[in-house]
Amino acid sequence: MTNGERTISYLRLSITDRCNLRCVYCMPEAGIRILPQRDILTYDELLGIISTIAGPIGLRGIRITGGEPLVRGGVLDLVKRLSKIEEIEDLSLTTNALLLREMATPLREAGLQRVNVSLDTLRPERYREICRGGDLEKVMAGIEAAVESGLSPVKINQVVIPGVNDDEVEAMAGLTRDRELHVRFIEFMPIGNSDLQRRRKYISSANLRSRLEERFGIVPAEGPRGLGPARYYGIPGAVGTIGFISPLSQHFCRSCNRIRLTADGWVRTCLLSDRVGVDVKTPYRAGARGEELVGLFREAIRRKPASHDLAPSGNGGDYIRTMCQIGG
Ligand code: SAM
Repeated sequence: MTNGERTISYLRLSITDRCNLRCVYCMPEAGIRILPQRDILTYDELLGIISTIAGPIGLRGIRITGGEPLVRGGVLDLVKRLSKIEEIEDLSLTTNALLLREMATPLREAGLQRVNVSLDTLRPERYREICRGGDLEKVMAGIEAAVESGLSPVKINQVVIPGVNDDEVEAMAGLTRDRELHVRFIEFMPIGNSDLQRRRKYISSANLRSRLEERFGIVPAEGPRGLGPARYYGIPGAVGTIGFISPLSQHFCRSCNRIRLTADGWVRTCLLSDRVGVDVKTPYRAGARGEELVGLFREAIRRKPASHDLAPSGNGGDYIRTMCQIGG
Protein backbone atom coordinates (compact mmCIF):
# COMPACT_ATOMS: atom_id res chain seq x y z
CA MET A 1 0.00 0.00 0.00
CA THR A 2 1.20 3.53 -0.63
CA ASN A 3 1.15 6.70 1.42
CA GLY A 4 1.89 9.57 -0.95
CA GLU A 5 5.11 8.58 -2.68
CA ARG A 6 5.95 5.92 -0.11
CA THR A 7 5.26 2.25 -0.65
CA ILE A 8 4.82 0.42 2.61
CA SER A 9 6.30 -3.04 2.27
CA TYR A 10 8.26 -3.69 5.43
CA LEU A 11 7.04 -4.68 8.90
CA ARG A 12 9.07 -4.45 12.09
CA LEU A 13 7.47 -7.04 14.27
CA SER A 14 8.11 -6.75 17.99
CA ILE A 15 7.42 -10.01 19.77
CA THR A 16 8.33 -8.95 23.31
CA ASP A 17 9.14 -5.90 25.39
CA ARG A 18 11.43 -7.98 27.64
CA CYS A 19 15.19 -7.73 27.27
CA ASN A 20 18.13 -9.53 28.86
CA LEU A 21 20.15 -6.29 28.82
CA ARG A 22 19.51 -2.79 30.17
CA CYS A 23 21.56 -0.64 27.78
CA VAL A 24 22.07 2.83 29.25
CA TYR A 25 20.75 4.65 26.19
CA CYS A 26 17.72 2.44 25.75
CA MET A 27 16.20 1.39 29.07
CA PRO A 28 16.30 2.55 32.67
CA GLU A 29 18.17 0.24 35.02
CA ALA A 30 15.06 -0.62 37.01
CA GLY A 31 11.44 0.32 37.28
CA ILE A 32 10.49 -0.22 33.68
CA ARG A 33 6.87 -1.20 33.31
CA ILE A 34 6.70 -4.63 31.69
CA LEU A 35 3.59 -5.56 29.75
CA PRO A 36 1.36 -8.10 31.45
CA GLN A 37 1.47 -11.41 29.58
CA ARG A 38 -2.19 -11.15 28.58
CA ASP A 39 -1.48 -7.91 26.70
CA ILE A 40 1.16 -9.51 24.48
CA LEU A 41 -0.10 -10.96 21.23
CA THR A 42 0.23 -14.74 21.12
CA TYR A 43 2.04 -16.26 18.14
CA ASP A 44 -1.27 -17.53 16.79
CA GLU A 45 -2.68 -14.00 16.97
CA LEU A 46 0.42 -12.51 15.33
CA LEU A 47 0.33 -15.03 12.53
CA GLY A 48 -3.41 -14.61 12.09
CA ILE A 49 -2.97 -10.86 11.69
CA ILE A 50 0.09 -10.96 9.44
CA SER A 51 -1.16 -13.64 7.09
CA THR A 52 -4.39 -11.65 6.64
CA ILE A 53 -2.77 -8.32 5.87
CA ALA A 54 0.43 -9.35 4.02
CA GLY A 55 -1.22 -9.67 0.61
CA PRO A 56 -3.64 -6.72 0.69
CA ILE A 57 -1.10 -4.31 2.24
CA GLY A 58 1.76 -5.54 0.04
CA LEU A 59 4.21 -6.61 2.74
CA ARG A 60 7.41 -8.11 1.38
CA GLY A 61 9.72 -8.09 4.36
CA ILE A 62 9.52 -8.72 8.10
CA ARG A 63 12.14 -8.01 10.72
CA ILE A 64 11.51 -9.67 14.08
CA THR A 65 12.59 -7.53 17.00
CA GLY A 66 11.78 -6.57 20.59
CA GLY A 67 12.89 -6.18 23.42
CA GLU A 68 15.21 -9.08 22.80
CA PRO A 69 13.35 -11.43 20.48
CA LEU A 70 15.48 -14.47 21.34
CA VAL A 71 14.30 -14.43 24.97
CA ARG A 72 10.72 -15.24 24.01
CA GLY A 73 10.01 -18.98 24.05
CA GLY A 74 8.97 -20.65 20.81
CA VAL A 75 10.69 -18.15 18.53
CA LEU A 76 11.93 -20.94 16.22
CA ASP A 77 8.40 -22.08 15.60
CA LEU A 78 7.33 -18.50 14.91
CA VAL A 79 10.14 -18.10 12.37
CA LYS A 80 9.11 -21.35 10.71
CA ARG A 81 5.52 -20.22 10.39
CA LEU A 82 6.39 -16.69 9.22
CA SER A 83 8.73 -18.07 6.58
CA LYS A 84 5.81 -19.96 5.08
CA ILE A 85 3.78 -16.82 4.40
CA GLU A 86 4.01 -16.63 0.65
CA GLU A 87 4.25 -12.85 0.27
CA ILE A 88 7.20 -12.52 2.66
CA GLU A 89 10.38 -12.65 0.62
CA ASP A 90 12.70 -11.30 3.28
CA LEU A 91 12.73 -12.51 6.89
CA SER A 92 15.27 -11.10 9.31
CA LEU A 93 15.80 -10.56 13.03
CA THR A 94 17.50 -7.99 15.23
CA THR A 95 19.29 -9.25 18.33
CA ASN A 96 21.90 -8.42 20.92
CA ALA A 97 23.37 -11.86 20.05
CA LEU A 98 23.76 -13.07 23.64
CA LEU A 99 21.81 -16.21 22.73
CA LEU A 100 22.83 -16.39 19.10
CA ARG A 101 25.65 -18.91 19.37
CA GLU A 102 23.16 -21.65 20.22
CA MET A 103 20.36 -20.36 18.05
CA ALA A 104 21.96 -19.28 14.77
CA THR A 105 21.79 -22.65 13.02
CA PRO A 106 18.29 -23.55 14.29
CA LEU A 107 17.07 -20.10 13.20
CA ARG A 108 18.59 -20.56 9.77
CA GLU A 109 17.00 -23.99 9.49
CA ALA A 110 13.64 -22.56 10.58
CA GLY A 111 13.76 -20.17 7.62
CA LEU A 112 15.40 -17.00 8.92
CA GLN A 113 17.48 -15.39 6.19
CA ARG A 114 19.61 -12.79 7.93
CA VAL A 115 20.38 -11.03 11.22
CA ASN A 116 21.28 -7.62 12.54
CA VAL A 117 23.37 -7.63 15.70
CA SER A 118 23.52 -4.64 18.01
CA LEU A 119 27.05 -4.08 19.26
CA ASP A 120 28.25 -0.76 20.61
CA THR A 121 31.78 -1.58 21.75
CA LEU A 122 34.55 -4.13 21.36
CA ARG A 123 35.87 -3.61 24.89
CA PRO A 124 34.57 -6.13 27.45
CA GLU A 125 34.46 -3.72 30.37
CA ARG A 126 32.86 -0.95 28.39
CA TYR A 127 30.36 -3.47 27.06
CA ARG A 128 29.27 -4.30 30.61
CA GLU A 129 28.97 -0.59 31.40
CA ILE A 130 26.92 0.32 28.35
CA CYS A 131 24.73 -2.79 28.50
CA ARG A 132 24.65 -2.95 32.32
CA GLY A 133 25.57 -6.63 32.08
CA GLY A 134 25.97 -9.22 29.38
CA ASP A 135 29.15 -10.75 28.06
CA LEU A 136 30.98 -9.50 25.00
CA GLU A 137 32.55 -12.91 24.41
CA LYS A 138 29.12 -14.46 23.94
CA VAL A 139 28.18 -11.74 21.48
CA MET A 140 31.31 -12.28 19.40
CA ALA A 141 30.68 -16.05 19.43
CA GLY A 142 27.09 -15.37 18.36
CA ILE A 143 28.28 -13.25 15.42
CA GLU A 144 30.69 -15.98 14.39
CA ALA A 145 27.93 -18.59 14.63
CA ALA A 146 25.65 -16.44 12.49
CA VAL A 147 28.26 -16.20 9.72
CA GLU A 148 29.01 -19.91 9.95
CA SER A 149 25.35 -20.89 9.85
CA GLY A 150 24.84 -19.14 6.52
CA LEU A 151 22.65 -16.31 7.81
CA SER A 152 23.50 -13.59 5.32
CA PRO A 153 24.13 -10.75 5.38
CA VAL A 154 25.21 -10.34 9.00
CA LYS A 155 24.96 -6.66 9.90
CA ILE A 156 26.37 -5.10 13.04
CA ASN A 157 24.82 -1.89 14.33
CA GLN A 158 26.67 0.53 16.59
CA VAL A 159 24.82 3.44 18.16
CA VAL A 160 27.56 6.05 18.35
CA ILE A 161 27.38 8.13 21.53
CA PRO A 162 29.80 11.04 21.95
CA GLY A 163 32.17 10.50 24.85
CA VAL A 164 30.86 6.97 25.40
CA ASN A 165 31.98 4.88 22.41
CA ASP A 166 32.78 7.24 19.52
CA ASP A 167 36.48 6.44 19.93
CA GLU A 168 35.79 2.91 18.65
CA VAL A 169 34.42 3.74 15.24
CA GLU A 170 37.71 2.88 13.52
CA ALA A 171 38.00 -0.44 15.38
CA MET A 172 34.41 -1.33 14.50
CA ALA A 173 35.01 -0.44 10.84
CA GLY A 174 38.10 -2.69 10.95
CA LEU A 175 35.83 -5.72 11.53
CA THR A 176 34.82 -5.53 7.88
CA ARG A 177 38.33 -6.13 6.55
CA ASP A 178 38.54 -9.91 6.74
CA ARG A 179 35.02 -11.09 7.51
CA GLU A 180 31.87 -10.61 5.53
CA LEU A 181 30.37 -8.31 8.13
CA HIS A 182 28.50 -5.10 7.46
CA VAL A 183 29.07 -2.55 10.21
CA ARG A 184 26.62 0.32 10.39
CA PHE A 185 26.89 3.46 12.47
CA ILE A 186 23.61 4.85 13.79
CA GLU A 187 23.06 8.37 15.05
CA PHE A 188 21.99 8.41 18.68
CA MET A 189 18.32 9.37 18.84
CA PRO A 190 16.51 11.07 21.71
CA ILE A 191 14.32 8.11 22.44
CA GLY A 192 14.50 5.96 25.54
CA ASN A 193 17.07 7.82 27.63
CA SER A 194 16.51 11.31 26.27
CA ASP A 195 18.38 12.77 29.22
CA LEU A 196 21.59 11.04 28.07
CA GLN A 197 20.95 12.27 24.55
CA ARG A 198 20.44 15.83 25.76
CA ARG A 199 23.75 15.67 27.59
CA ARG A 200 25.75 13.82 24.96
CA LYS A 201 24.03 14.94 21.73
CA TYR A 202 24.96 12.91 18.71
CA ILE A 203 27.68 12.69 16.08
CA SER A 204 26.51 13.07 12.52
CA SER A 205 27.20 10.39 9.93
CA ALA A 206 29.03 13.00 7.82
CA ASN A 207 31.46 13.57 10.65
CA LEU A 208 32.12 9.85 11.08
CA ARG A 209 32.43 9.33 7.36
CA SER A 210 35.14 11.94 7.02
CA ARG A 211 37.01 10.37 9.94
CA LEU A 212 36.91 7.00 8.20
CA GLU A 213 37.82 8.52 4.84
CA GLU A 214 40.89 9.99 6.43
CA ARG A 215 41.85 6.81 8.28
CA PHE A 216 40.99 4.11 5.75
CA GLY A 217 40.24 5.92 2.48
CA ILE A 218 36.70 4.47 2.43
CA VAL A 219 34.86 4.73 -0.88
CA PRO A 220 31.16 4.38 -1.79
CA ALA A 221 30.21 0.72 -2.14
CA GLU A 222 27.24 -1.40 -2.93
CA GLY A 223 25.53 -2.39 0.30
CA PRO A 224 24.33 -5.82 1.35
CA ARG A 225 20.76 -6.94 0.83
CA GLY A 226 18.32 -5.03 3.01
CA LEU A 227 15.27 -2.82 3.15
CA GLY A 228 16.61 0.08 5.17
CA PRO A 229 18.04 3.53 4.63
CA ALA A 230 21.78 2.97 5.20
CA ARG A 231 24.34 4.50 2.83
CA TYR A 232 27.27 2.19 2.20
CA TYR A 233 31.03 2.56 1.87
CA GLY A 234 33.94 0.16 2.01
CA ILE A 235 37.57 0.03 3.01
CA PRO A 236 39.43 -0.72 -0.24
CA GLY A 237 40.12 -4.45 -0.35
CA ALA A 238 37.78 -5.27 2.56
CA VAL A 239 35.31 -8.15 2.39
CA GLY A 240 32.50 -6.39 4.26
CA THR A 241 31.04 -2.89 4.10
CA ILE A 242 30.44 0.13 6.30
CA GLY A 243 27.03 1.79 6.48
CA PHE A 244 25.72 5.04 7.89
CA ILE A 245 22.21 5.47 9.21
CA SER A 246 21.30 9.09 9.78
CA PRO A 247 17.84 9.49 11.31
CA LEU A 248 18.72 12.96 12.62
CA SER A 249 21.15 14.64 10.23
CA GLN A 250 19.54 13.33 7.04
CA HIS A 251 16.24 11.85 7.97
CA PHE A 252 14.81 9.35 5.55
CA CYS A 253 11.11 9.92 6.23
CA ARG A 254 10.37 10.57 2.56
CA SER A 255 11.41 7.06 1.62
CA CYS A 256 10.29 5.33 4.81
CA ASN A 257 8.75 2.03 3.76
CA ARG A 258 8.03 0.58 7.18
CA ILE A 259 5.39 0.10 9.78
CA ARG A 260 5.72 -1.47 13.18
CA LEU A 261 3.54 -3.86 15.10
CA THR A 262 4.26 -3.61 18.83
CA ALA A 263 4.20 -6.64 21.12
CA ASP A 264 0.92 -5.39 22.59
CA GLY A 265 -0.70 -5.11 19.20
CA TRP A 266 -0.47 -1.49 18.12
CA VAL A 267 0.35 -0.54 14.56
CA ARG A 268 2.85 2.24 14.72
CA THR A 269 3.80 4.02 11.54
CA CYS A 270 6.53 6.33 12.85
CA LEU A 271 9.20 5.32 15.35
CA LEU A 272 9.45 8.87 16.56
CA SER A 273 5.84 9.69 17.12
CA ASP A 274 3.84 8.53 20.08
CA ARG A 275 0.75 10.25 18.76
CA VAL A 276 -0.13 8.12 15.77
CA GLY A 277 -0.96 4.50 16.30
CA VAL A 278 -3.84 2.14 15.82
CA ASP A 279 -4.81 -0.61 18.26
CA VAL A 280 -5.40 -3.84 16.36
CA LYS A 281 -5.29 -6.24 19.29
CA THR A 282 -8.61 -5.16 20.80
CA PRO A 283 -10.57 -5.45 17.54
CA TYR A 284 -8.77 -8.71 16.65
CA ARG A 285 -9.68 -10.22 20.02
CA ALA A 286 -13.24 -9.01 19.52
CA GLY A 287 -13.38 -10.96 16.25
CA ALA A 288 -12.21 -8.54 13.53
CA ARG A 289 -10.89 -10.56 10.58
CA GLY A 290 -10.43 -10.18 6.81
CA GLU A 291 -11.24 -6.77 5.33
CA GLU A 292 -12.03 -5.29 8.73
CA LEU A 293 -8.52 -6.10 9.93
CA VAL A 294 -6.91 -4.90 6.71
CA GLY A 295 -8.90 -1.67 7.09
CA LEU A 296 -7.24 -0.96 10.43
CA PHE A 297 -3.80 -1.22 8.84
CA ARG A 298 -4.90 0.91 5.90
CA GLU A 299 -6.11 3.56 8.31
CA ALA A 300 -2.80 3.50 10.21
CA ILE A 301 -0.82 3.82 6.97
CA ARG A 302 -3.01 6.70 5.82
CA ARG A 303 -2.11 8.47 9.05
CA LYS A 304 1.64 7.85 8.72
CA PRO A 305 3.28 11.24 9.36
CA ALA A 306 5.09 12.87 6.43
CA SER A 307 8.14 13.20 8.65
CA HIS A 308 9.22 13.05 12.26
CA ASP A 309 9.54 16.28 14.16
CA LEU A 310 13.02 16.05 15.57
CA ALA A 311 15.20 19.04 14.95
CA PRO A 312 18.57 18.06 13.48
CA SER A 313 20.05 19.45 16.68
CA GLY A 314 18.67 16.36 18.31
CA ASN A 315 16.73 18.36 20.86
CA GLY A 316 13.38 17.02 19.85
CA GLY A 317 10.50 15.81 21.93
CA ASP A 318 10.43 13.34 24.75
CA TYR A 319 9.12 9.93 23.95
CA ILE A 320 6.90 7.99 26.20
CA ARG A 321 8.04 4.59 25.02
CA THR A 322 11.58 3.23 24.79
CA MET A 323 12.88 1.33 21.77
CA CYS A 324 12.33 -1.88 23.70
CA GLN A 325 8.66 -1.07 24.10
CA ILE A 326 8.15 0.00 20.50
CA GLY A 327 10.34 -2.57 18.82
CA GLY A 328 13.66 -1.20 17.65
N1 SAM B 1 17.35 -6.47 21.56
C1 SAM B 1 17.53 -6.32 20.15
C2 SAM B 1 18.87 -5.70 19.86
O1 SAM B 1 19.62 -5.43 20.80
O2 SAM B 1 19.18 -5.52 18.69
C3 SAM B 1 16.42 -5.59 19.42
C4 SAM B 1 15.80 -4.40 20.06
S1 SAM B 1 16.86 -3.01 20.30
C5 SAM B 1 15.75 -1.90 21.07
C6 SAM B 1 16.98 -2.43 18.63
C7 SAM B 1 18.00 -1.39 18.34
O3 SAM B 1 17.59 -0.14 18.84
C8 SAM B 1 19.37 -1.64 18.91
O4 SAM B 1 20.30 -1.67 17.84
C9 SAM B 1 19.63 -0.44 19.76
O5 SAM B 1 20.98 -0.09 19.73
C10 SAM B 1 18.75 0.59 19.09
N2 SAM B 1 18.46 1.76 19.95
C11 SAM B 1 17.88 1.78 21.16
N3 SAM B 1 17.80 3.06 21.63
C12 SAM B 1 18.35 3.86 20.67
C13 SAM B 1 18.57 5.26 20.54
N4 SAM B 1 18.23 6.11 21.51
N5 SAM B 1 19.16 5.73 19.41
C14 SAM B 1 19.52 4.87 18.42
N6 SAM B 1 19.32 3.55 18.47
C15 SAM B 1 18.76 3.03 19.58
